[in-house]
Amino acid sequence: MSKINHLAIYPGSFDPLTRGHEDMVRRSLSFADKVIVAVAHRRTQQKSGLFEINERVEMIRSVFANEPRVEAAEFEGLLVNFARSKNARVIIRGLRAVSDFEYEMQMALMNRQLWSEVETVFLAPDTQYSFLSASLVREIASLDGDVSEFVSPIVLQQLKKKFPPETRTQSLHGKDADG
Ligand code: ADP
Repeated sequence: MSKINHLAIYPGSFDPLTRGHEDMVRRSLSFADKVIVAVAHRRTQQKSGLFEINERVEMIRSVFANEPRVEAAEFEGLLVNFARSKNARVIIRGLRAVSDFEYEMQMALMNRQLWSEVETVFLAPDTQYSFLSASLVREIASLDGDVSEFVSPIVLQQLKKKFPPETRTQSLHGKDADG
């Protein structure tokens, strides 16, 4: 008895989830029955990022609260080990530009070397998200820029908590003073 596995894993940092990530998930649902958005982390990591891992997972859950085919999880260690534990043979990755290609290709080939049954599926985002990255969103938000077009309202609210007006003013003054 063989059953085609339509479970896909979409791994990343998601610090935080952007509209570009959301676009990838929605596109994946056109061929996968279920997508696990998996937040990667390392306990030994020196720099933890802007959001804690559980905060990132919670935001993903909230954004996809009305989509039962999307699950959020965190994993530590090798992606292929996590995929195998879920019996998921499809890994989703996004390609924004040629600059993403080399690293993504290397990872895909290495993952297949580590587990021959896994396939990486690359998806291109809608052009309006092709320049979008979580690091840009963090930077713009920290400088009091408007990121409402780039993240869902749930994420926007959390970003505002991370960068309350006093902090933002300070950063801007800092920039001004330097310049
Ligand atoms: P980022 O690069 O924004 O920090 P991640 O490291 O969490 O995001 O990336 C997880 C995956 O999502 C990667 O395959 C990355 O190429 C992809 N991705 C991130 N942003 C976008 C986007 N705007 N459009 C398409 N794919 C994206």
